[in-house]
Amino acid sequence: MTVSKGAVFPTRNDLFVGKISKRQDSLEVLSCSFFALAIIRSAQSSLFKGAIQLVQSLASATGGADDKMPVDKLVPCPTRQITKRPVFDPFTPGMNYQSFAEQLRTVVSDIDRVPQYEIRRLFETFDVDNDGKLNKTECEAFNRVVINEVNKLNCAIIVVDFQNDFVNGSLAIKKGPAMQDPHEALVPLNKLLRECSFDLVVYTQDWHPPNHISFYEHCRNGDRAMLPMDKGRKLKPFDTVNFGQPKCHQILYPAHCLQNSWGAELSPHLARVPDAKYVRKGLNVFVDAYSAFSDNNGENKSELARLLRSEGIDALFICGLAYEICVAATTREANNLGFYAALVADCSKGLNAEKIDEANVELSQRNVAIIESQAVESFTTERKVPWRWVCQLAGISGTELTVPRGVNGVENLEGDSTTPSIEVNDGIKV
Ligand SMILES: [Zn+2]
Repeated sequence: MTVSKGAVFPTRNDLFVGKISKRQDSLEVLSCSFFALAIIRSAQSSLFKGAIQLVQSLASATGGADDKMPVDKLVPCPTRQITKRPVFDPFTPGMNYQSFAEQLRTVVSDIDRVPQYEIRRLFETFDVDNDGKLNKTECEAFNRVVINEVNKLNCAIIVVDFQNDFVNGSLAIKKGPAMQDPHEALVPLNKLLRECSFDLVVYTQDWHPPNHISFYEHCRNGDRAMLPMDKGRKLKPFDTVNFGQPKCHQILYPAHCLQNSWGAELSPHLARVPDAKYVRKGLNVFVDAYSAFSDNNGENKSELARLLRSEGIDALFICGLAYEICVAATTREANNLGFYAALVADCSKGLNAEKIDEANVELSQRNVAIIESQAVESFTTERKVPWRWVCQLAGISGTELTVPRGVNGVENLEGDSTTPSIEVNDGIKV
C-alpha cells in the first residue's frame, strides 16, 4: 500500500469489516495471487477455505489488544448500492403559517426540536408582502431556494480518526475528563455504515511521523524551539505551548498515530464499507492537522475537498474522534467551504465535555446541524434534512437561531423547543 501526502487510497481491506493489522500490506499482496493462495491454503488444515477467510484469520492473529468487546466477526459490508431517495413535491401556493409548518414536518428530520418562532422566521422570510400567506411568487421562491435544492443534495459520511490510539491506545478518549467511551459511538456508527446508503464514505486517519510537532515527548527536540515563556516551564501532556520555530501555538499530546503503527490503524471494530475513500492528515512534522481538509495553518490542503466535489457531494455527515478537536475542526471547515454539514453527536466521542459543548454552540451558530444518527437515516431513506440546512439554504444566519446549551447540546435543543428562552421581533434577538 503506497501512501502519499494527503492520500486518498482505497485498499483491498475496504472489502472487510473487522480487523486490519500491520501485516495488511503483505496480506493484500498474497490475496491477489493464486500462487500465494495455494501456499497459504496448504498451510491451513482445510484446503478449501476461501481467500478472504485466510486473509482474515491471519489478520486477526495480529493487531492490538482490545478485550473490552469481542472482535467484530469479519463479515463484509453489503456491496454499496445507492438507493434512489424520494424527492419532495413543491409546496403549493396559498399556505398560511400553520399549513406551511405542517408540510415542513415532511421535509425536516429534527423539526420537533425546533422552536416555533424559528419556523415562523422561515415563513416570514418568504412571506415578503407580510399578508400571512405564501402567494404564488413567494411559494415559488421557497420551492426554488429550499425544496429544489434539498431534492438535489448528495451526501457523504466522513468518519474522522476512528483509530486504535484514540480508542484504547496512547491517547485514549475514555481517559479524558469526560470519560467518554468510543465503543459506545461504534454501535450507532456501524449501523449507519452498514445500513444506510451514502453517496460516498470517507475514513480519515491521523498519520504522524515519529517526531511530530504535537508530541509531548519531542517538544524539546533540537529542530524546534519554544518561546522563552514555555521553554523554562515544567511541561506535561495536554499543556499548550508556543513555538518560535516553527511559529505555532500547539497543544502537546502523548505520541499517537505513528505512521504504519498499530495505533494509527482504524479500530478493528469499525465497519468498513466497500468503495470507501481514505484521507490521511498530519503528515508534516512541523504542522498539526485537526481538520481533514487542511493543516492547522490552513495552508496545505488534503485531497478531501477535491474528492467530495468530484463526486458531486454537497452535504456531509461528520462524526468520529475526538469530538471537540478533529471532528469539530473538520465540520467547521466543511461549513466554511460551503458544504451543508452535520455533526453526528452520538457517533462521536471527545475528551472534554465543556469543550464539546462550546463546539456545539460555535458550530450551531454557523448553521452546522448537531444531530443524532436517526437524522442521518432520515436523510438516506426519506431525504429529510436537518433544520439548520434549511436555514442555510434560506440564508438565515445561525447566529439568529437558538444554540444548544449544556453538556449534551442535542438534548438541550429539545428542551428549547417547548420553552424557547428568547423571543424574536423582526428577526432580532431581544
Ligand atoms: Zn494527532
